[in-house]
Amino acid sequence: MPNITDNINHILQRVTESARQAGRKGDDITVLAVSKQQPVDRIRQAWEDGLYRFGENYLQEALGKIETLSDLAIEWHFIGPIQSNKTAAIAEHFAWVHSVDRLKIARRLSEQRPPHLPPLNICLQVNIDREASKTGVAPDETAALAEAVATLPNLHLRGLMAIPRPRPPGDERREPFFRLARLLDNLRNRSPELSRLDTLSMGMSGDMEDAILAGATIIRVGTALFGPRPPLRATERTTDHQAR
Ligand SMILES: *Cc1c(COP(=O)(O)O)cnc(C)c1O
Repeated sequence: MPNITDNINHILQRVTESARQAGRKGDDITVLAVSKQQPVDRIRQAWEDGLYRFGENYLQEALGKIETLSDLAIEWHFIGPIQSNKTAAIAEHFAWVHSVDRLKIARRLSEQRPPHLPPLNICLQVNIDREASKTGVAPDETAALAEAVATLPNLHLRGLMAIPRPRPPGDERREPFFRLARLLDNLRNRSPELSRLDTLSMGMSGDMEDAILAGATIIRVGTALFGPRPPLRATERTTDHQAR
């Protein structure tokens, strides 16, 4: 098993240092532990070390883990592509969804959110680099989607998420994060409802510093925490991956 305790400490040092450079408080940045393809004993270890928010990409895999780890008060975040026939299970089992990119999915999540649960926290995934292959709403269509999602009763729209295309280190790598931050600012100025948006979910193991400098409030960290991901098991490939 990788030394998860050491990895967490190292990540927290990186967060603290880049927050300092940005003139921000380290406490304002949440580490979401991305546990996709990682075995449950590593999640337990991270929990014992104080992390309690975990992100998963593949629904079938996630549901198994949620069941196995139901003795822990984990806050589960769904961060993967969403097929419309999977929304009911996502609405039932997660506290956050970071990857909403169309109104149809948002409507279904709202309708299917069980009444005994608090509103489902939502980030809109923005295709910040307008890549043909990527999911995400186009930057210039984000405001219309945000206004529509904000009216849905069982959702709590929190902000924006993006995965920029890979870039070399330096200013160039920060640029898409600053663009996402500006997009959130523009949304906040549109209406009293949207003025409450408070979340920028951006930055991963390789670029968390750049994202924090640009204002990230949630960084999604997998490899730097848990080590390299073991390959997907065959069942997960067929149930979750084939349809994409
Ligand atoms: C896998 C994944 C991550 C984590 O990536 P690392 O580079 O391993 O930190 C973050 N966000 C999303 C949406 C992912 O799919």
